Amino acid sequence: MPDNPQTMAASTKEGDLRRLMNLTAIGITLAGVILLSVIVFAGWTANSSATAREEALLGNAMNRSILRMLNEQKSVAWWDEAYTTITNPDPSPEFLDSEFGIFLSETYGHDVVVILDPTDTPLFMYSGGARRTPFDIERYRHVIAPVVAEVRQTKGRPLRQRPDLFGIDQGHYRTIGSAVAQARWTGHLLEVDNLPAVVTALTIMPNVDMSLLKAGQPHVLVSIKLIDEPYLKEQGRMLLLEDLTFADNPVAKSGYASIPFETDDGQVAGMISWKTEQPGRTLTSVILPVVAIGFLLAATQAHAMLQRLRSTSSHLAQAEKQSRYAAKHDALSGLPNRAHFADNLECVLSRTDASGQNAVVAYMDVDRFKDVNDTLGHSAGDNLIKQVAERLRAHVRSGDFIARYGGDEFAILWLSADPEAPQILATRIARALLAPIEIEGQPVTVTASVGIAIAPQHGRSVDEVMRHADIALYEAKNAGRNRTIVFSANMAEQVEQRRAIEMDLQAAIANDAIDVAYQPIVSCETAAIVGVEALARWNDPKRGFVPPATFIPIAEQAGLMPMLGERVLARAMRDWHAWPHLEVSVNLSPLQFRQSDVVGILERMTAEYKIDSARFVLEITEGVLMDAGDRTHAALDGIRKLGFRLALDDFGTGYSSLAYLCNFHFDKFKIDRSFVSGLSRSASFRTIVQSVISLGSGLGMQIVAEGVEIETEAQSMTDYGCSQMQGYYFAKPMPRAALETFIESYRPAPRAEPEQARIAAAE
Ligand code: C2E
Ligand code: MG
Ligand code: MG
Repeated sequence: MPDNPQTMAASTKEGDLRRLMNLTAIGITLAGVILLSVIVFAGWTANSSATAREEALLGNAMNRSILRMLNEQKSVAWWDEAYTTITNPDPSPEFLDSEFGIFLSETYGHDVVVILDPTDTPLFMYSGGARRTPFDIERYRHVIAPVVAEVRQTKGRPLRQRPDLFGIDQGHYRTIGSAVAQARWTGHLLEVDNLPAVVTALTIMPNVDMSLLKAGQPHVLVSIKLIDEPYLKEQGRMLLLEDLTFADNPVAKSGYASIPFETDDGQVAGMISWKTEQPGRTLTSVILPVVAIGFLLAATQAHAMLQRLRSTSSHLAQAEKQSRYAAKHDALSGLPNRAHFADNLECVLSRTDASGQNAVVAYMDVDRFKDVNDTLGHSAGDNLIKQVAERLRAHVRSGDFIARYGGDEFAILWLSADPEAPQILATRIARALLAPIEIEGQPVTVTASVGIAIAPQHGRSVDEVMRHADIALYEAKNAGRNRTIVFSANMAEQVEQRRAIEMDLQAAIANDAIDVAYQPIVSCETAAIVGVEALARWNDPKRGFVPPATFIPIAEQAGLMPMLGERVLARAMRDWHAWPHLEVSVNLSPLQFRQSDVVGILERMTAEYKIDSARFVLEITEGVLMDAGDRTHAALDGIRKLGFRLALDDFGTGYSSLAYLCNFHFDKFKIDRSFVSGLSRSASFRTIVQSVISLGSGLGMQIVAEGVEIETEAQSMTDYGCSQMQGYYFAKPMPRAALETFIESYRPAPRAEPEQARIAAAE
């Protein structure tokens, strides 16, 4: 059968959960990656903006170096005395040394100090702590040339322009007029002797007496200051930049920033490096790992939780699946149960019209299962159910649906368009049970009664189809079990009638409305009444007289027999006290043997009604003896031990196995009415009756002829050697009061002479 929607729903739920967990895992990972990236980015941004700021500070410091150098030059170059001295045709070298060379180099650390005359001819040069010949200037000519050209405003090598900080400071000089137009200055960063250097140039001017100023090009004071290690150290201290160095290559250590040092003529002189502040380092080296570890822990925790959730939910799903399975299956046989069968049948019924197939439903009941249970025990019963289930599974086609419908009931559903389907299914079931089943080491022949209903013709709903299959099963059981009966419409009617009778009968038994009639039994020898047979009588207010042949089987079928039997016994025992000299026969149904503790009941009643058990004969039929097990033997022995006498009733009907007479000890056996009435019809009857009577008397039993209706029958049975007789010829069954009158008025008929004696006398 296909997976049902519940199973599919469970797997969908599992799929949803897995998707949700995957999404959560992706979400957590994404959130973690974003968080860590933000921290890294923040750290990187903080570092790079700090480096950019330091770089800007450095650039600024370079511009301020130019400003400072120009200011230092200005302190001597813009001075009346210096101007006068320098413009003399023969300026005093001592003056130049002390006021320019020594002053600028020693006070301010200028490395090279050069004075050029208006034609740019070197007039003075001071470097390395000594005056140099003006020709030494040639070494620096290419560096000085563009700077001087800028000051002279002539064409020279173009240099990058820097903010004129000095100009801003000296604004008022510019406003002095045309004379001051000669006051010019410039400063650049250039490469000198493989080192970056600040090169500044300033025209030499009077600063107070402007009348000293001569026309034409002024003298120019040029200073070079190398940006060497001490200089950088000093700058670093001022800018709070650690390890500020200049080298050909960048510093490869972490935490250092390096930038190319580009001179104002566009050359890269080398790399300037320093230990950058890196405020983002805390973020990346402390916060990032802490957050990463925290996140990792959280992610691990979340993962563990999700795993737990997943395993819990899969356990739950598993448990749900199992309980769903358990709810739909029978634990003992492993087959689907009644509810599952009904669900499935409902599903099939909704499709039968469209498919053109019939739903053949077989409702099966294991015959005499109760006997197995009672005689061999419940575990044997369970074992039998399991084996029957296996047999059915093995013999019924794989597509058919088999269920355990109840205790010993099974149901099989077969979809078929074949009109012979019910017969085929019946044969399959019978074949499944053909071989004996071994229970507790004993081979037991198991038969089953089967009722078949076919949908849609026998019903369109589960209830209807199953009710009709049940009716057919009931018929099969009634008809003697071990057979299959297919439902027919008139069966339903009969069953309804039976059900109605059953209900009324149940009420009658409960209300003690079942009467007992007594039929006299006479002695063949004396013709005197020697006993009576107690027979149940039911006068239903609606139906009138209901014969025992109708209500006894119904009582047996409905499980009412033990109670009914006990009522009859009780009545007979009470009534016996009215005629204690008579023997009272009471019928015991096979069901009383199977369903109740017959010995215990008899023992209790003997005491309760204070009867002489020896005056009571219990009549049993072959039904009790068929398949009799130890329990039946024990019950029969128990009854005899209590002092009751036993009679085999209706001998000649059923199997009439002579073995019963030999195997069980009976005090009497009653030859059935059919034999008695058959005497006149057939000689073979006579032979059989004669031999049975001689066998019975040979075994020491009394023989009772039943249903003696006419004198000749009475005569014949007496002649054949019967001990007692019972029949309408003597009296019909009658109520207790009538019996008492009958006994009083009864005069035994003169004993008929035995036929043989008469024949002999005639001879
Ligand atoms: P049974 O035990 O063989 O009882 C004898 C039946 O034969 C009685 O039918 C009786 O009325 C009938 N009968 C007696 N003489 C004649 C006769 O000359 N001609 C004809 N045609 N019938 C005669 P009844 O009372 O209808 O009972 C039928 C059967 O129902 C009984 O057969 C017995 O098997 C069963 N039965 C009746 N009462 C009880 C009861 O209390 N318990 C049990 N277990 N079975 C009972
Ligand atoms: Mg009887
Ligand atoms: Mg009988």
